[in-house]
Amino acid sequence: MTFIQNNFKELLKKIDDIASLYNRNSKNIKLIAVSKNKSVSDIMEIASLGQKSFGENYVQEGIKKIKYIKYFYPNLEWHFIGPLQSNKSRLVAEYFSWCQTIDRIHIAHRLNDQRPTGLLPLNVLIQVNISKEDKKSGIITDNVFKIAKQVISLPKLRLRGLMAIPKLENDYTKQVNEYQKMVIIFNKLKKEFVNIDTLSLGMSNDMQAAIVTGSTMLRIGTKIFGIRNNYKNV
Ligand SMILES: *Cc1c(COP(=O)(O)O)cnc(C)c1O
Repeated sequence: MTFIQNNFKELLKKIDDIASLYNRNSKNIKLIAVSKNKSVSDIMEIASLGQKSFGENYVQEGIKKIKYIKYFYPNLEWHFIGPLQSNKSRLVAEYFSWCQTIDRIHIAHRLNDQRPTGLLPLNVLIQVNISKEDKKSGIITDNVFKIAKQVISLPKLRLRGLMAIPKLENDYTKQVNEYQKMVIIFNKLKKEFVNIDTLSLGMSNDMQAAIVTGSTMLRIGTKIFGIRNNYKNV
């Protein structure tokens, strides 16, 4: 087994352990392997062990990998998790199954118009700027319902829930507190709309807090692939 495969196996076990400790079924916690800056061969190392879902942050880099890997693993599910500029929305609509970073209704409309008719609706999450950081993408919590109402009406998008990237915080209790704010909004959203089943929270350094509070989707990069270089190793 390689370094990455070993990390991956250990991660699955860790998720299972934390889940059972907190009376959660790990089947309800989906793992997205975040492969930004990582090579196609790195990705295929865990695709060969059965990992299906991958997250990419940069449109061009992601599409290069999707097109290549498709011939080896045609059934992978690709999540766009980076900030999306409107001039790149068409590529996301055409190549990805999920876009987790909806933070403007304008982008949602573009993705809806650009989603090819032959494909299933694009699954989308509204990104919430939970820590109210100035430079972070995402909308403030007060606007979640306003944007959700509009996204729900778009036929080629399927609103599945919420995503957040909290401020970097190493204190466990503070991580939990921040994520609990998301759970409250998520539960309200579930009451109001159908198909809401996804709360995308948790990265390598706060995975436990995310599982404990109720995340249904983890986005993990470093703990699987190791630390990232700045250059793109496609
Ligand atoms: C990079 C990234 C991750 C993964 O972060 P790690 O700390 O490497 O696990 C998760 N979500 C988003 C949106 C990211 O950009």
